[in-house]
Amino acid sequence: MLDPFGRHIDYLRVSVTDRCDFRCVYCMSENMTFLPKKDVLSLEELERLCAAFIGLGVKKLRLTGGEPLVRKNIMSLFRGLSSHLASGALEELTLTTNGSQLKKYAQELADCGVRRINVSIDTLDADKFKAITRWGQLDQVMDGLAAADAAGLKVKLNAVALRGVNDEELGDMLQWAGDRGYDMTIIEVMPMGDVGGDARLDQYLPLSMVRAKLSERFSLSDIDYKTGGPARYVEVKETGGRLGFITPLTHNFCESCNRVRLTCTGTLFMCLGQEDAADLREPLRRSEADDAVIEAIHEAISRKPKGHDFIIDRRHKGPAVGRHMSVTGG
Ligand code: SAM
Ligand code: SF4
Repeated sequence: MLDPFGRHIDYLRVSVTDRCDFRCVYCMSENMTFLPKKDVLSLEELERLCAAFIGLGVKKLRLTGGEPLVRKNIMSLFRGLSSHLASGALEELTLTTNGSQLKKYAQELADCGVRRINVSIDTLDADKFKAITRWGQLDQVMDGLAAADAAGLKVKLNAVALRGVNDEELGDMLQWAGDRGYDMTIIEVMPMGDVGGDARLDQYLPLSMVRAKLSERFSLSDIDYKTGGPARYVEVKETGGRLGFITPLTHNFCESCNRVRLTCTGTLFMCLGQEDAADLREPLRRSEADDAVIEAIHEAISRKPKGHDFIIDRRHKGPAVGRHMSVTGG
């Protein structure tokens, strides 16, 4: 699939549920209203849509959410998708998770051909962890990481940089990640969805400042490691690991974008930072043959925008994009 700007689209991210067992302060409000079950695609429908994308050239599939591992029977979707790995049509099947259910599922994920996972942890301090996630327990996630290690899954840590919350701790986290053999990515807070009050302005911390601070303690050298995504990577000499910076607000990465995002209602977003979307649920349900859905996918890709419109500043108090990250899956 080629978009109007000549970008090759071979990466699909699928938010399999908008629900979550955490309520991270930058992601959700405490009282979220979730989608009615009837609007959500069944796991069979999600698998059919993924298969259509794979047929059109998608090589990498990431399941995310909400929390993907809290969706009932989610392993049946992983098992179904693993057949495309076995056939060679799909090169990578992976997920982004908060780690709360990893203890239960790590081995089964590995058995399905998952090799690498992203686990989101913003702090190694149990009290802060509770404050950030509202409902999460750090112990549970640590047990999940141990299970992932035991199952041979390669882990990358995702941490959102939060001013006045974890900024002083990111160096220790980087060292800790390196000691465990994990790469790490630090993410700048993105203005998505209402999370209450002026929280976002308070949380925003430019990664240029984070990098400057980390450089006092670590030797960071730019490397040409690219995933087609918004992360820019450096090598950390002291740990031998990689550190990525995801800076959607201060760095333009759109020219190399290779991805589209599917929500659990079958809505395809061609850009994380834009409202334009295509409904794939209707063509999917219209007929058992895939012709209509394939046509809808092609039509959507032909509308993929050149770039995003994120902005956080005092003149723009509301979120730049109304939907929460848990809808499109980050
Ligand atoms: N629940 C899973 C998790 O937390 O890893 C997967 C979904 S979560 C929406 C995906 C990633 O988006 C997480 O790493 C999370 O920290 C990040 N995220 C959520 N809201 C964000 C925001 N407003 N700005 C930046 N990153 C955000
Ligand atoms: Fe849940 Fe992930 Fe959002 Fe936290 S970031 S509330 S774990 S979806």
